[in-house]
Amino acid sequence: MKKIGILGSTGSIGTQTLDIVRHNRDDLHVVALAAGSNIGLLEEQIREFHPLYAAMWNEEAARELRVKVADIPVKILSGIEGLIEISTLPDIEMLVTAIVGMIGLRPTIAAIKAGKDIALANKETLVTAGHIIMPLVKKLGINLLPVDSEHSAIFQSLVAESPDTISKILLTASGGPFRGKITAELPGKTKNDALRHPNWAMGQKITIDSATLVNKGLEVIEAHWLFDIPAEQIKVIIHPQSIIHSMVEFVDRGIIAQLGIPDMKLPIQYALFYPERKPLKGESVDFTAIQTLTFENPDTETFKGLPLAYKALADGGSMPTVYNAANEKAVSLFLQDKIGFLDIYEIIEGAMNQHKIIPSPNVEEILTVELETYRYINAIQ
Ligand code: NAD
Ligand code: MG
Repeated sequence: MKKIGILGSTGSIGTQTLDIVRHNRDDLHVVALAAGSNIGLLEEQIREFHPLYAAMWNEEAARELRVKVADIPVKILSGIEGLIEISTLPDIEMLVTAIVGMIGLRPTIAAIKAGKDIALANKETLVTAGHIIMPLVKKLGINLLPVDSEHSAIFQSLVAESPDTISKILLTASGGPFRGKITAELPGKTKNDALRHPNWAMGQKITIDSATLVNKGLEVIEAHWLFDIPAEQIKVIIHPQSIIHSMVEFVDRGIIAQLGIPDMKLPIQYALFYPERKPLKGESVDFTAIQTLTFENPDTETFKGLPLAYKALADGGSMPTVYNAANEKAVSLFLQDKIGFLDIYEIIEGAMNQHKIIPSPNVEEILTVELETYRYINAIQ
């Protein structure tokens, strides 16, 4: 029986993680859940999974939840302290970081320091603090298992291989809803257009990131840290069918890939049970029905989210934090209809251009850079 905690239990990854728990009651036990503001769903989850702890971001929401679940022995926490307390509970063996954004940074680091294994969906954390997290993972000997489908595919492709035989990572991308469009066609695109992802049903922020290709940019940086591979050896390939979830080419030019229908349950379940592989119900890939798998180079002129990520990684230090923080703020403004689609790139680029790099920022400095980036964006709005 593995005891787990889930940060972001009411979101897309969080609810799919709980669905896996539902089908593996003898093997997984939920000790703690945390969510942002969805009181109703968190209450339902508490009643179904009986965690000992739960947290809401906002103290007011936490108070409301305490009243609703007064009949159940569960402790309701709030704020960043609540997230950190949950992440470090002695009872938890593995923390699923399914929270969105770099708010996951401090809880994830605290969990690693407390010796927890991590099933990592929250890529923003690794993007901003990979240089802190990866050495800690090594030092404490914990398992950091990727949930992101591409990184899970790479991880699965490497199970029987030695890391020094990797020649390239081939990171696949669907291309998002605007694949094939040129810049002149994008200014009028609304959030509803951008939220219409062709292959994956995900949270709003990552769906917009998929439309801008910032998601792929974040994933390049994530892959760099997870697999200790330089940016020059990470190549993004547009593969609109999302059947090949990523590939690794080795020094002998042989390639190993992981394939499957686009369904996050597989990478989530793989991370929860690694190194075991468990059955999972659902559709299988029907190659003769699909017939063709296609590949293209990304259009980096139009979708600047990708080249800006390579630049942020090359600049290093605090620059990936600026790239990520500026994107988080820009996406939030876009989702509130306050800026246009292409303004997301303008904001990220502007924030990166005005930033003075801190070579190896500590957690405090990363959080300060985040605030300064928000301040810069507020000032130009
Ligand atoms: P989502 O928006 O659907 O869910 C986010 C969750 O985080 C919700 O439960 C929300 O309540 C919680 N949350 C947000 N702010 C919080 C706060 N301050 N305190 C506590 N909880 C808070 O997002 P998602 O699509 O599930 O994505 C989660 C993470 O997983 C992101 O980092 C995303 O990039 C990554 N990811 C998602 C998918 C996917 O298929 N959805 C795939 C790969 C990676
Ligand atoms: Mg992904």
